[in-house]
Amino acid sequence: MNSKSKQLTNRESSSFTRQLSRDTPVQYLKGVGPARARLFGKLGVHTLEDILYYFPWRYEDRKNILELTAADETGTLKSRWFNQAYLKKLFQKGQKIVLSGMVKGNPYSGIGLEMENPDFELLSGDDALVHTGRIVPVYKATEGLSPKQIRTFMFNAVRNYSSVIKDYMPREILESEGLQSLEWSLREAHFPEEFVDTDILNRGVSPSHMRIVFDEFFLLELGLALLKKREVAQQGISFSTSGKLSERFLQALPFKLTAAQDRVLTEIRDDMKKSAPMNRLVHGDVGCGKTVVALLSMLLAVENGYQACLMAPTELLAEQHFINIHKMVEAIGLKVVLLTSGRKDRPVDEIAGGSAQIVIGTHALIQENVSFKKLGLAIIDEQHRFGVVQRAALRKKGQNPDIIVMTATPIPRTLAMTLYGDLDISIIDELPAGRKPIITKVFFPSQKDRVYSLITAELSKGRQVYVVYPLIEESEKLDLKSAIDGAEAFRVKFPERKIGLVHGKMHQGERESVMTSFKDGSLDMLVATTVIEVGIDVPNASLMLIVHAERFGLSQLHQLRGRIGRGGYDSHCLLMAYPPFSEEGKRRLKAMEATADGFRIAEEDLSIRGPGDFFGTRQSGIPDLKIANIIRDIGLLESARKKAFELINDDSGLDNHPLLKDRLERKWMGRLELIKS
Ligand code: ADP
Ligand code: MG
Repeated sequence: MNSKSKQLTNRESSSFTRQLSRDTPVQYLKGVGPARARLFGKLGVHTLEDILYYFPWRYEDRKNILELTAADETGTLKSRWFNQAYLKKLFQKGQKIVLSGMVKGNPYSGIGLEMENPDFELLSGDDALVHTGRIVPVYKATEGLSPKQIRTFMFNAVRNYSSVIKDYMPREILESEGLQSLEWSLREAHFPEEFVDTDILNRGVSPSHMRIVFDEFFLLELGLALLKKREVAQQGISFSTSGKLSERFLQALPFKLTAAQDRVLTEIRDDMKKSAPMNRLVHGDVGCGKTVVALLSMLLAVENGYQACLMAPTELLAEQHFINIHKMVEAIGLKVVLLTSGRKDRPVDEIAGGSAQIVIGTHALIQENVSFKKLGLAIIDEQHRFGVVQRAALRKKGQNPDIIVMTATPIPRTLAMTLYGDLDISIIDELPAGRKPIITKVFFPSQKDRVYSLITAELSKGRQVYVVYPLIEESEKLDLKSAIDGAEAFRVKFPERKIGLVHGKMHQGERESVMTSFKDGSLDMLVATTVIEVGIDVPNASLMLIVHAERFGLSQLHQLRGRIGRGGYDSHCLLMAYPPFSEEGKRRLKAMEATADGFRIAEEDLSIRGPGDFFGTRQSGIPDLKIANIIRDIGLLESARKKAFELINDDSGLDNHPLLKDRLERKWMGRLELIKS
């Protein structure tokens, strides 16, 4: 530890420090008060602990100190601020001031030096330099609370209270991983003394950051390890070998399972035969055939006298699954029901009585008034939208039923480790034979005619065409209008063609009949909002035009594109993009052109959006990562995971690590308890 950081703590008189705890509201910190505390609240900072963990997003090196009165012994310095006349009130003759900024003029001449908009600090007594003369942290601010003000409060908080958070990390781990103490790391991460390279700091890999990043991963992985350990210890259902039902189903299936589907199905069946509850993630690229695998798993439960359910994140998805699965099992005479909160007929009695063998639904499935007679297998189709809490709720609908989590697109390995670290993972890494690669190309509005002629050519070959318009929730009406107008425009442009329209605001029956007409070939073109993202399967459709492609997320574009290329025809995905678009938008479009491999798309998506965004909602139920970055810090993630799982293996109740246990429970905000009960 260096001397400067000691200096920070020693300054502090101790009596006040001791009265504060990590839970002390920021309002009571020096100079904050209720009004500013509300502003801090907007930044998610409520307590002393929060403020210590509110890290700067970057640093500036402001080591050029210029003291200015009217003049000092070397010369004069003229400072200029723009639009900040009110500052004048602050300056008085004879006052000492520190200024920081870019200097214009020749420093050797000592005359005519000027600065524009320098940062400054008025000096009184021996106050440490906060805003100048050091590596200065820059915090995300909010209206009414400037970065500079935050920096001031932060300086006090860090200087006075960073020891309030006790270091909970086992000593062996600190040593084996070469990590610094928590107190030192918190101080250094805010007001670095030791490392002067702001480039390194801004990239987030200094020793202080290393400690904080490691901790974020470690606490996350520790929770996941604990969940996993607890679940393995439970008594679940031991299904016996699959029998006639699955066989009959497979015989009726018009295709053979791919090797990857076979392998994953075996992994699932092996798990289901064990008495420990299964917790398995199944992922794979669009079109790899997850639905059949899910269904065959459900059949195993059903033929053992249990019910199975499938929970989807939206009503539309649930509907699509219901229609597809209903069709697939009709022949073998199973009772499949659909339960969503939007529907009037709610088959709760069939579910409770057990006559409904397969239940498809939304989160309505986990509501209190729904109970199963004998739930054996629950499948969650989640697209990052459900998380550990929903999984736990679903598990309680039976007696430790087996659980499969399916995601619509592949998940990069790092993300799977963080989001689904408590699950075993199966990957369907193969597409059914006969899929043709899809050629994807970006077009601009000026190239509309080219797009029309491509569509004409495809239609005249007897193929069908999708046209997709964006649907963004905040502007639902506007976007709906664009799909409706779009359909009209295409009808004018292609008067001899039959063109259908589907969108989310249509009734299910109406929507279904349009989709059926498209599927049976009585429509040539289907204009749609993103409702066709999943579940639609029309092998004769070989061209998709996505309008305003720059507005879609990368995974969504890939998911949409997966609707074509299913019939053994050369297929084309045309991305109509309206400039100007963001750097990120450009990268997304480029990635779409460059690859059709969902795993590469997912990695690119993760790197464009950043992990925080990729997680989607906080509903995942796992703690936020604040400064850890699962791409940049993959090495730390791996070692943190290893250490966490080792520790839980040795001390599953964390009885020998009470401080760590306490920290873990706070980090997970009681969710670990919730999941246990
Ligand atoms: P996803 O994994 O994207 O959910 P689906 O389960 O919807 O994919 O399957 C996509 C299409 O591929 C469906 O029409 C399905 O019937 C078909 N399919 C699934 N498995 C195979 C297979 N082994 N051979 C041929 N077609 C298959
Ligand atoms: Mg599917």
